[in-house]
Amino acid sequence: MSGKQERSGWLQGSPADCAVPLTEGMRPWRLVLLGPPGVGKGTQAELLTGRTGACHLSTGDVFRAAKSMPACERSPALNAAIEASKAGRLVSDELVLELVSERVGCLQCGSGFLLDGFPRTVAQAEALEVLLVSKSLALDFVLSYELPLDTIVARLGGRRTCAGCKAVYHIQSRPPRVKGTCDHCGGTLVQREDDRPESVTVRMAEYTTSTAPLSEYYRQRGLLVTVPAEGTPEEIYARTVDALDAR
Ligand code: AMP
Repeated sequence: MSGKQERSGWLQGSPADCAVPLTEGMRPWRLVLLGPPGVGKGTQAELLTGRTGACHLSTGDVFRAAKSMPACERSPALNAAIEASKAGRLVSDELVLELVSERVGCLQCGSGFLLDGFPRTVAQAEALEVLLVSKSLALDFVLSYELPLDTIVARLGGRRTCAGCKAVYHIQSRPPRVKGTCDHCGGTLVQREDDRPESVTVRMAEYTTSTAPLSEYYRQRGLLVTVPAEGTPEEIYARTVDALDAR
């Protein structure tokens, strides 16, 4: 199974006909990708989508997509969420959980899912568990990508994202074929507002306080698979596949 999935249902919260039939002999993977912002979860999710067919579901992408909605269509809560995400602060659990609950159809997709950036607090992890149980679903594994935070801060400065399809590049380690242009869709590559130095400092503090405890939460449930995140995206991907195969 290969190719990018249709993600409009996830990004806009509307029903989308995105189900891709599973190739015979394959199983749907339901994974959470954990790790500090900028560790490369989005890139790994893209690579894993190609291998597993599971849909890449990023809550950060939902907030970025909301920024391009007409202002009159955004609720006050969504405006507050957009402001928080620009500054690098976490959006409230209440709003994040409302957005994910509206998109529960994506969690039930027959092709599985790769959750990237959600859950980000223990309260979100507990709510996800309840949501999945209510649909008779369960996580297979939680992949935790590990790298020292100072290495990540350096990485974030060079990260560029396609304004169109959201593919992720790095000006040194994963440059596009044509500078500033997406290899997949020809879109323009941009630096995310929250990759600016002042936002990065806030995001790292939020990670340490609220998200890092999730590793222990999932370790206790026997779901945690740690993956060292040094090296190129391909090397990290090879380690991810090895870690999954070993389980
Ligand atoms: P990301 O692309 O995952 O780094 O997310 C970008 C920003 O969106 C974060 O810095 C937060 O402000 C917000 N965000 C995304 N996912 C969540 C979440 N699960 N909980 C709270 N805030 C989130």
